[in-house]
Amino acid sequence: MIRVNDVIDKISDYHPGADLGIIERAYIYSARVHEGQVRLSGEPYLTHPLEVAGILADMKLDVISVVAGFLHDVIEDTHAVPEDIEKLFGPEVRHIVSGVTKLSSLTFHSSRARQAESLRKMFLAMADDIRVILIKLADRLHNMRTLQFHKANKRKTIAKETLDIYAPIAARLGIYWIKNELEETSFKFLQPDEYNRIQTLVAKSRTEREKYMQTVKDYIQKKMDEAHLTCEILGRNKNYFSIYNKMISQNLPFGEIYDIIAFRIVLDSISQCYEALGLIHSMWKPIDHKFKDYVARPKPNMYQSLHTTVVGPFGERIEIQIRTRDMDRVAKSGIAAHWSYKEGKRIDENISEKFAWIQDLVENQENFRDPGEFLENVRIDLFQDEVYVFTPRGEIKTLPYGATTVDFAYMIHTEVGNQCTGAKVNGQLVPLAYELKTGDIVEITIAKNHHPSKDWLKYVKTVKARSKIRYWIKTQEKERSISLGREMLEKAFRKEKLSFNAMLKTEQMANVGTHFGFKAVDDLVANVGYGKITPLQVVRKIAPKKEPQADPESIFNKLVGRVVRKKRLKDGVLVKGVDDILIRFGKCCQPVPGDSIIGYITRGYGVTVHRTNCVNALRLTPERQIEVEWNQEASETYPVKIQIVSHDRVGLLADVVGNISKFGANILNASSETRDNKMVDSYFTIGVEDTTHLERILSAVRKVKLVQDVKRIG
Ligand code: MN
Repeated sequence: MIRVNDVIDKISDYHPGADLGIIERAYIYSARVHEGQVRLSGEPYLTHPLEVAGILADMKLDVISVVAGFLHDVIEDTHAVPEDIEKLFGPEVRHIVSGVTKLSSLTFHSSRARQAESLRKMFLAMADDIRVILIKLADRLHNMRTLQFHKANKRKTIAKETLDIYAPIAARLGIYWIKNELEETSFKFLQPDEYNRIQTLVAKSRTEREKYMQTVKDYIQKKMDEAHLTCEILGRNKNYFSIYNKMISQNLPFGEIYDIIAFRIVLDSISQCYEALGLIHSMWKPIDHKFKDYVARPKPNMYQSLHTTVVGPFGERIEIQIRTRDMDRVAKSGIAAHWSYKEGKRIDENISEKFAWIQDLVENQENFRDPGEFLENVRIDLFQDEVYVFTPRGEIKTLPYGATTVDFAYMIHTEVGNQCTGAKVNGQLVPLAYELKTGDIVEITIAKNHHPSKDWLKYVKTVKARSKIRYWIKTQEKERSISLGREMLEKAFRKEKLSFNAMLKTEQMANVGTHFGFKAVDDLVANVGYGKITPLQVVRKIAPKKEPQADPESIFNKLVGRVVRKKRLKDGVLVKGVDDILIRFGKCCQPVPGDSIIGYITRGYGVTVHRTNCVNALRLTPERQIEVEWNQEASETYPVKIQIVSHDRVGLLADVVGNISKFGANILNASSETRDNKMVDSYFTIGVEDTTHLERILSAVRKVKLVQDVKRIG
């Protein structure tokens, strides 16, 4: 069992100037609050925080991390409160211990494989300090080392969770020694038979393997010596879990002892690494696609190394890693290297820089060969765009940040969304607009005849919820339109001494539907209700009349036919100091009395009048500018182009025209375009006396039914 002095010794080794007093105080505090508690092993509880602190010291982490390691269980398991921790050890320790406690409160009800990725993300998302994760890893490592004291089924659950969640996180953070140990112990508890079998096989071939390892090392050493390269050559056995996986995935029997050995050459400089690589390749033939240059392209977790697989002296495959001493150090501690000390100093003093580094990784994801490999998962504190919540049965759902209980309900099922009446979060009733937080357990209550509300659209965040709510509202509107359309049609048919209901199911009616482009007669009826088709149009299809029906085109023709010819306009403007001069108006901006205007002298054409804010006018040279003003006494009309945006409906144009004429304005030109979304843009050029006259017309047209927007253009 480790003692507090061992932890202190480790720290003074890698960080001579460290504040050892705070370590001792954390130990004493932990001992006091955990007093009387016993682990399943029968040992005092204190052994656990001590071991965890020891692991953190093995990772050469900063004093704060080790202190938090001693205290990591005190909020959860003792009467201690966060305020106590802050008072005694400062806000940073409190923050980290609270983070660890928050993560511990997460129960991974189910760790099915398809959920594992979300669980890992959720795990990382909940920690806003990387040290929280490092402490959780150390905590899990020690718990795995003492797993035998649990009951058999509990062992399996914990081992499975370790394999699904913790080992991949350790790998993604580049802390491979923790990853290996977690995998190995999980494997041992999950598949004891397989584990023992491989253990026996490996043990049996041990002598033979050691001999082989020495042979290969000698070959390499000789080659390096010839080139005067100083290096360290290591041979290591792969872990049982990866041997097992290789046997499973490649369907191989255990026989090739070479397959379980990997070699590593550690040198001083990068150029030596490449030189060594060249020498290896000149000695043994490389297998092409197996070469990976993680020196030129480091892995996102900073891992650097040259990887190659060659055909060895006995025709076997040999895996070799080549790296510098520095790269070796990083490969051993991964992201933890950022929180460790080097030569008594922290590598990075600035915490925010570290997070910037992680952010950098995320942003440069596309530069890595295998972007799917880690990246999303190294994002600490960067998952702000997502929240992870549980269903009452423990399934994880991922929603965008700001999503509400209604979004959650729709994510479960459309009907759950449509019928949701309320929600409970962590057992408490909350409003439907409640914004979900990571870790929430969400329960939705539904009622059979309950329906979505338009109000929900104000706060839902997901596309699914939004579109389902809209769809429901639209369907409701359609039902209303069908009953309205039916009434209108019945009336119109009666006028022609026909019965709409009798004809409803006939082929003739179906043909009318097809004529207007509808598959179902219901759609035709609904469109009559919406006002897109008049009942008369339908009647005429069934019982045609002699005289030609009014067609929208002819309305325009009639309108334009009433155009009054433009009068000469020059009298409306006075040019300062000049009496008789040819005046024209800019077509671009069509000034009207009341507008502020400016004149421009155009060679041979007199003066052109523009609105002062006209884009074209602003481009003209100031030397040609001349002051002009409106002649108050002139009674003229001036052309102005207006645009009307509206929903398509029968009778729209007539209403617009009526409103323009009401104010005595002439329509000089009219045209319209229907857009894809059933909106119509109508353009009218009208003759107005001045801006007041124009404003009156515009506001009258704005009040026309289904008109969305009216504005002067040009
Ligand atoms: Mn613990």
